[in-house]
Amino acid sequence: MTVNITDIDTLIVGAGQAGVAMSEHLSNQNVPHILLEKSRIAEAWRTSRWDSLVANGPAWHDRFPSMEFPNAEPDAFIPKEKVADYFNAYVEKFNLPVRTSVEVFSVTKNTNASGFTVETSKGTFNTQRLVSATGAFQVPIIPAIAPKDPELYQIHSAKYRNPRQLPDGSILVIGAGSSGVQIADELQRAGKDVYLSVGPHDRPPRSYRGRDFVWWLGVLGLWDAAANEPGKEHVTIAVSGAHGGQTIDFRELSKQGLKLIGRTESFENGIVSFRNDLANSIRNGDDNYLSLLKRADEYIANNGLDLPEEPEAHQLLADPECMSNPTLELDLKKAGITSIIWATGYTTDYSWLKVDAFDENNQPKHHRGVSSEAGVYFLGLPWLSRRGSTFIWGVWHDAKYIADQIVIQRQYQQYRNDA
Ligand SMILES: Cc1cc2nc3c(=O)[nH]c(=O)nc-3n(C[C@H](O)[C@H](O)[C@H](O)COP(=O)(O)OP(=O)(O)OC[C@H]3O[C@@H](n4cnc5c(N)ncnc54)[C@H](O)[C@@H]3O)c2cc1C
Repeated sequence: MTVNITDIDTLIVGAGQAGVAMSEHLSNQNVPHILLEKSRIAEAWRTSRWDSLVANGPAWHDRFPSMEFPNAEPDAFIPKEKVADYFNAYVEKFNLPVRTSVEVFSVTKNTNASGFTVETSKGTFNTQRLVSATGAFQVPIIPAIAPKDPELYQIHSAKYRNPRQLPDGSILVIGAGSSGVQIADELQRAGKDVYLSVGPHDRPPRSYRGRDFVWWLGVLGLWDAAANEPGKEHVTIAVSGAHGGQTIDFRELSKQGLKLIGRTESFENGIVSFRNDLANSIRNGDDNYLSLLKRADEYIANNGLDLPEEPEAHQLLADPECMSNPTLELDLKKAGITSIIWATGYTTDYSWLKVDAFDENNQPKHHRGVSSEAGVYFLGLPWLSRRGSTFIWGVWHDAKYIADQIVIQRQYQQYRNDA
């Protein structure tokens, strides 16, 4: 039996924004490559996000440098389907070699030969290099504390679509990063009774003195920061482009009727317990918010910019009752809670990538995406090189760096081979 093997210099796995950016940079450097995607281009934006989601950053920022969003105001927050359409259009515009509906099953290092053997749903590839662009938000995490109560409707935020999907009754949303807080807000605006379990978070102002926070993070060098401040490694960021873009303000959300509680600790016999840390989390979030205003003011002064003053941005609402008299326990039945939405983040699955590029916790071993297994690269991971690494604009710059590293290795490999 003859096996048909496709030889290629570089294979990219995953056609989300990371894979698309990678393909653009490899094309620019004339590196022969193919991008394999198990479903469609930017599938996560189409089917793993809720219906009303818009990009967290405005159109002028949350895009690749080589193409603007068509027919969009620069300051608009683009709906998720249009974000996916953008990446489709991008692939067409730059004629990128994407093959959709091809799942990669396994990648193994060749023995006594350079490169890797890649088994897929559409045959075998032999590649010199492989870029894993399968995303950081791949496998939804529901913590082990989740109650095993068949009467409760429980989903991860990745499966939340809209308020109509939920049964009647109150809702507990666990996790108040960008997903949890937006979903809780949407449900509350739809007339639902909503509890939101809040942990440590950063909450930048949506805009300050006429500039969006994405601009402030840019000029202050914070998107490019190589690591979070010590102690803040696991702090989530609460931002939203919904309703034209508004600052996430937990005091305001409480005033609107959202029932805020601390971090969820356990479920036992129908009782859910919360840590007594809500006030602390909200105050730390406020400190983060105010510190950005301060740094922005300093930047304006140091650079002699003429931007309008915004003193009201420094005024915080009074502490709501939930801060001074926190709820530490809830009887789910008595509170009428019929559904729980776990907005508790994601993990990765690299079971298909059988190479020496992982540590004892199965986390990629890499420096700026160049892994410990020569020829294997990672893209799109949190803090791959900087704070912006998982975001649309940031991954484009990381991909450029990795393309350079690939070109450098190709040059070494070709040394004297061309003579
Ligand atoms: C709710 C939410 C909102 C977000 N909003 C924003 C935002 O507004 N702005 C922003 O900049 N970022 C945002 N992000 C972060 C990030 O931009 C997105 O998660 C984005 O989808 C990540 O792109 P990616 O290419 O790294 O991964 P993905 O988009 O997840 O793409 C990975 C691709 O790999 C494919 N794949 C996986 N395994 C295989 C395999 N074995 N074989 C073949 N293909 C495979 C998948 O099908 C998928 O298409 C958001 C994230 C979440 C979770």
